[in-house]
Amino acid sequence: MTVKGLTYDTIFQQAPIGIAITYSSADDVNNNFVSINQIFQQITGRTKEELIKIGWIKITHPDDVEEDISNFNKLQSGEIKSYSMEKRYIKPDGSIVWVDMVVASLTLSDEHMNNQICLVQDITERKRLERELLESERSKSVLLSNLPGMAYKCNYDCHWTMQFVSAGCYQLTGYTSDDLLYNRRLSYNDIILPKYRETLRNEWERILGERLPFRYEYEIVTANGERKWVLEMGQGIYSELGDVEALEGIILDISDRKEIENNLRYNNEHDQWTGLYNRRYLENLLANDAELITTNKRALIGINLSAVQRLSLTYGFHYSQEVIKKVAKALSLLCTDKRKLFNTYENRFVFYIKDYRDKDELIVFCEEIDKTLGTIFAAEGLGSGIGIVEIDADNKHDVGQILKNLLNASEKAIYHINNSLGFCFFDKDMEAEIMREEDIIKELMLVESDESDGGLYLQYQPILDLKSNQICGFEALARLKSDKLGFVSPLEFIPLAEKTKLIIPIGQKIIIKAFGFLNRLRNCGYRGINMSINVSSIQLLREEFNRDLFDIIADMNVNPENVGLEITESLFVDNYQEINRILGELKSYGIRIAIDDFGTGYSSLARERELNISCLKIDKYFIDKLLLLKEEEAITGVIISMAHKLGHCVVAEGVEYEEQRLYLEKYKCDKIQGYLISKPLDEDAAIAILKEKNHI
Ligand code: C2E
Ligand code: MG
Ligand code: MG
Repeated sequence: MTVKGLTYDTIFQQAPIGIAITYSSADDVNNNFVSINQIFQQITGRTKEELIKIGWIKITHPDDVEEDISNFNKLQSGEIKSYSMEKRYIKPDGSIVWVDMVVASLTLSDEHMNNQICLVQDITERKRLERELLESERSKSVLLSNLPGMAYKCNYDCHWTMQFVSAGCYQLTGYTSDDLLYNRRLSYNDIILPKYRETLRNEWERILGERLPFRYEYEIVTANGERKWVLEMGQGIYSELGDVEALEGIILDISDRKEIENNLRYNNEHDQWTGLYNRRYLENLLANDAELITTNKRALIGINLSAVQRLSLTYGFHYSQEVIKKVAKALSLLCTDKRKLFNTYENRFVFYIKDYRDKDELIVFCEEIDKTLGTIFAAEGLGSGIGIVEIDADNKHDVGQILKNLLNASEKAIYHINNSLGFCFFDKDMEAEIMREEDIIKELMLVESDESDGGLYLQYQPILDLKSNQICGFEALARLKSDKLGFVSPLEFIPLAEKTKLIIPIGQKIIIKAFGFLNRLRNCGYRGINMSINVSSIQLLREEFNRDLFDIIADMNVNPENVGLEITESLFVDNYQEINRILGELKSYGIRIAIDDFGTGYSSLARERELNISCLKIDKYFIDKLLLLKEEEAITGVIISMAHKLGHCVVAEGVEYEEQRLYLEKYKCDKIQGYLISKPLDEDAAIAILKEKNHI
């Protein structure tokens, strides 16, 4: 064997590809194998002998046979020198092996033979990967074309030039993918609603810098001009050097979700009835504005229409609601870009004013509001209160406090200004007043909770019977004293106790204290002395009042005939029938009822006849008048005689001078009370005065 022969043989057997040498004649294409190497046998899964016996056509996959034969014929006829194809062999077990095959004519030394060399390489694995890739491409394209939105790949440029756009583009934007690809008809940037373009770009810049995923919601304008909310989710594609090569992502239609969200937000920020922004929105706005550094002036004007409540009671809820709607509409007309209107509570409105010049400007605006409300309320005869709070560096961060102050100012405007429509600035005085009120309320709460009644105590003012010139009774007067506040007048703390309803437990304590003193008097031998106790309407109107009182009377073993209650005329404005029923029950138990401060309130003598009362206490006002008027001018005597005609006894309050006493004696007043006899006294002093004036 020559060196040349040896080399050929070695290559033939050891080359890492399958090699077969064949020869064929023109009349038999299924040529015979001459020589077959090891790898060829391995690839086809058949031995040399088998291959020689069967020939290549039978082991070729039927689908590849035709092409192979046609190529082979061309090779044989000399039309081509070689051909290559990817084809399949069938192995003995029926499995398929893919090969990359090259067949070429071969000129061997034997010139009568028509020889070919066939080189095959197993590409089954590559084919499998190819198929898988194809499958994955196919499913990707199915996915993309069915995506509820559009998938894209685009350049990171000012147009977002699209390199790829999925079919969903049409449904999302009304433009076809072709319209957008390479900005053929328009760019994606053109579709984005202009106000989002810059922020969107900034957002991409930010996330690309940090290699974060992109997620942003914005609006686009579709081909037919409709605005649509979309959610874009994407990411950057980076080169090996870290440069952004392209962007990739999907854009989804979120209009439905946005609509729900927007509805939710609307409901969250608006009053359902008036459609105005609500308190929550105002609070957020104020909190946000507080963070802005600005020297511009800001203020709130609060309009308190709590009186509308009365309309509900008279005409029903719907009627008052309609009035509120009317007000909202009328006030809305006063809005400008520097004045926003809010409906912060059922019957309350707030204007938020920005960039005003000075207080005078606010006052002028309040007058405008006042006039507007006047036209609506003239028919209803209702009042309102307008409060003003100016926002400054000191208070701007405490939104809750600002709104509380506003409410306080508007309440002050209702109650402290005689004019039915008025306004009131919140200022330092009011702040101090409110703080004092809070302090007093704290003291009252202490009175309620403390077993020894906190700072509460009673004083007793003697009432003198003019006929016998003896003290016939005392009026119990509540007193409050604390370390912090010193002495607090009942004129100040009783209204607060009423406002907070603390008068109910505190009133009961007063009754118990007064009865305690009554018992002490009895123990000292003063059996016939009466005790008058002031009661508020809130106490009296409680269903349990009478029963509780009777219980205490029984428990403390007090004679009900010695007990008197003082009530004010204002009680009769509403519920005349009900009040009289309660009074009737008290009267039948033996308790006397007196009308306090008579003559200053609402009641008329005509009605007093039907009332279950036994006594009128003529207010100090009419007693003071006695000093100013001539005897014949004063009506005090007339009141006394009319009260007598109605069967009531008469007490004169606030008697300070002898000449008043003389007048009252002359006109047959039954009893007098006042500094002329004595100031309110502590228990011991009260007993001392009894000793002095009365003889047991
Ligand atoms: P009132 O029931 O009309 O009590 C009479 C008030 O006139 C008392 O004031 C008394 O000190 C004062 N007074 C009596 N004589 C004279 C006088 O000659 N000259 C002057 N200038 N004043 C005189 P006070 O104690 O400050 O009580 C004020 C009001 O507070 C009472 O008016 C009553 O409405 C209320 N009040 C006091 N104690 C109670 C209470 O226990 N319960 C309730 N609900 N209210 C009370
Ligand atoms: Mg009284
Ligand atoms: Mg009085």
